[in-house]
Amino acid sequence: MPRPIVATIHMGSLKHNLDVMRKAAHGRTLWAVVKANAYGHGLLRAAEAFKGADGLAMIDVSEARKVREHGWTKRILLLEGFFDETDIPLLEKYDVETIVHDRRLLAMLQKNAPYKSLKVHIKINSGMNRLGFHPEEEETIRQELQAIEGVQMMGAVTHFANAEPTYDTEKPASVNKQLDRMHQIGAKDLSLCMANSAATIWQKAVTGDAVRAGVALYGVSPDSHFTSQELGLEPAMTLSAKIIALQNVPAGEAIGYGSRFITKRDSRIAVVACGYADGYPRCAKDGTPTMVEGKIAPLAGAVSMDMLTIDVTDIPEAEVGSTVELWGKNVSVNEVAKHCGTIGYELICAIALRVPVTQDAN
Ligand SMILES: *Cc1c(COP(=O)(O)O)cnc(C)c1O
Repeated sequence: MPRPIVATIHMGSLKHNLDVMRKAAHGRTLWAVVKANAYGHGLLRAAEAFKGADGLAMIDVSEARKVREHGWTKRILLLEGFFDETDIPLLEKYDVETIVHDRRLLAMLQKNAPYKSLKVHIKINSGMNRLGFHPEEEETIRQELQAIEGVQMMGAVTHFANAEPTYDTEKPASVNKQLDRMHQIGAKDLSLCMANSAATIWQKAVTGDAVRAGVALYGVSPDSHFTSQELGLEPAMTLSAKIIALQNVPAGEAIGYGSRFITKRDSRIAVVACGYADGYPRCAKDGTPTMVEGKIAPLAGAVSMDMLTIDVTDIPEAEVGSTVELWGKNVSVNEVAKHCGTIGYELICAIALRVPVTQDAN
């Protein structure tokens, strides 16, 4: 029997979330972001579930090739552009749109011209200070791009650092401050793509012609102060594993490495076949929720490489072989992430290769 751990991807939920984001996009072009192996859900599986999107946005041209070879005929966008000039012929070959975020990429495009048709978007740094040209450079860069034979100008893109509604708008890099800078770009009629999931859901002032939705498509709220349910989203990944052993531990004993958790009472501790080598974060604190037999069982003791321990003293139905939900429809991945000082994004992306992945229609 294989080790009893599995990540189940819910195809129905992926499709449902796409519909939710389609509505939230209010007629704008909807890019489904499938970077990081579709946030851990599987690139080709996501491409299948997101057939109704207008395009797929990703990071690597090799991913573009993969989805093309599996029959994706709609648009593809490289969110960080290309990394080397040897990638340029592949952009044309696989009909991949690229962003251009600095002069180095522009020079590579000039050097390798002419093209039959190479679709480019100018990336604007409107305040996040990661990738992109300053708004006042937009006009010059656009003219230089348009002077290259075969380059087709698709529009301008920018990215928000803080599109969550709980961000203090007085602080630097608020959505409004970034929008103000976007107004400084030269082109007034250029197609604009600005919103990520959070901006699509919450920032009505962010308009434009296209949105790039990522995390929400996977059913994770972009702001952990809000639940998926409140946003009408369905978690699309369930990570579950089985109980492989039970220990009756008297009060005052320690559990696991570092003896972090000390039993306050006579306890029943379940050992679960999931550890940090599966992508369950080792930084999870005692009390991080799991679910077994329909009840919440708190993490008790440090997560090991291949196992973790939970307190099932109050869940007598929990037995060897019981299924434990580490995150999914009942245990929110954002809730688990909060107990580790991180965000749900990081957990779903970090599912380890050794975890078998299956899918269902739910
Ligand atoms: C990842 C990413 C997105 C999607 O962000 P979500 O918060 O997951 O919706 C959009 N745009 C860019 C440039 C990204 O890198």
